[in-house]
Amino acid sequence: MNKVAFVTLGCKTNQYETDALMDLFYKNRYEIVDFDDFADVYVINTCTVTNVSDKKSRQMIRRAKKSNPDGTVVVLGCYAQISPDEVSAIEGVDVVIGTDSRSNVIHYIEQYRAGNTDKPYVVVEDIMKITNFEEMTVSSITTHTRAFIKIQEGCNQYCSYCIIPYARGQVRSRTPENILSEINALTEKGYMEFVLTGIHIGSYGLDFDDIRLIDLLERIHAIEGVKRIRLGSIEPRLINDAFIKRIRPLTKLCDHFHLSLQSGSDTVLKRMNRKYTANEYFEAVQKLKDLYGSPSITTDIIVGFPGESDSEFDETFAFVEKIGFSEIHVFPFSKREGTPAATMKDQVDPSVKKARSERLIALGKKQQLQYINRFIDENAEIIIEERKGNEYSGHTMNYLKLSLVLEGKTLSQGSLQNVKIQSYDGEKIIATCV
Ligand code: SF4
Repeated sequence: MNKVAFVTLGCKTNQYETDALMDLFYKNRYEIVDFDDFADVYVINTCTVTNVSDKKSRQMIRRAKKSNPDGTVVVLGCYAQISPDEVSAIEGVDVVIGTDSRSNVIHYIEQYRAGNTDKPYVVVEDIMKITNFEEMTVSSITTHTRAFIKIQEGCNQYCSYCIIPYARGQVRSRTPENILSEINALTEKGYMEFVLTGIHIGSYGLDFDDIRLIDLLERIHAIEGVKRIRLGSIEPRLINDAFIKRIRPLTKLCDHFHLSLQSGSDTVLKRMNRKYTANEYFEAVQKLKDLYGSPSITTDIIVGFPGESDSEFDETFAFVEKIGFSEIHVFPFSKREGTPAATMKDQVDPSVKKARSERLIALGKKQQLQYINRFIDENAEIIIEERKGNEYSGHTMNYLKLSLVLEGKTLSQGSLQNVKIQSYDGEKIIATCV
């Protein structure tokens, strides 16, 4: 039996695609081993969101070659799509595939081996010309209790700092039939929580005539075995009155929304080519708060975007104070070659970015604590994800990770458990069974 090893860099969509590739190799009688073990084939699913991601991808290629100098190294994903020449020139790379045609990977490996050459076999299409969603199915998930379901590919937004539209191409949606059939099959295997993922899930259905994200949500919600639906990153304009009216009866939809903010200053948002204002963002959050009471609102913020003045940063800081997030991911702006923002004037000094990041991270921690404290003494339900000795952990609907210490009782992974939240020690949120 041939052995194959995988490593994934980057986002949840990449992780889903690796899961689908694992399925494919498994069905073709490959044994899946750890990335640092000896394998016949190493698959590196790369990311290119920053220059650092490219560097990490190159490190993984070298690591694979170290584990087995004669192994076949396959590099695919966003970095391979954006820089096929650079990737092909790295010593030890054998097969290069972009962000399409990945489901033919085994065929390409065979072609490469049959060619008996040292030159890499390169299959990187012009992604801008691809108009179909590449169907790749996941039938079992090795690493998570919750199942990530890819619903769309590509992005038409062109934020000025982001390389992803060039790596993933235009919006292509997966058919609802394929999404529902994958979810149905996974519920039969015991999965109860589904996270809808993609490159820009708010664009779901733009390339179809008669379906949008909300229609898809309603159809997934109707599946009996589905207990929770979680949305991947969305943008504020999706949250309008019509959307709120239709999600109101969807009780399986988690009250956890990752609403990408990036900046709380309208002038910075404009330079970023984000298609909303801070006020529209505020109103979207208000609608969610009116519906759910205390939903978890998480976000990403870029600090030190080109030209960000002290007063623009102050606007962002004040805006974050006004919203009250449950978690903030702060990213100091990092130039991504090939994007408009990389060549913008007035790049912000690294020491200023650092100081602003630290202020925002501290505010984020304070808000996280305030959010958690609101739930002390409240009852909740978790799905058991992990066990370490007699300690179990799992997430609530609003994405609080709870720890349960049990004596003389065992819980199975993937099961639902009612708990009462007791305390937070700065690291863990402690709960007890009820
Ligand atoms: S919405 Fe903007 S940040 Fe997100 S993938 Fe598209 S271009 Fe990139």
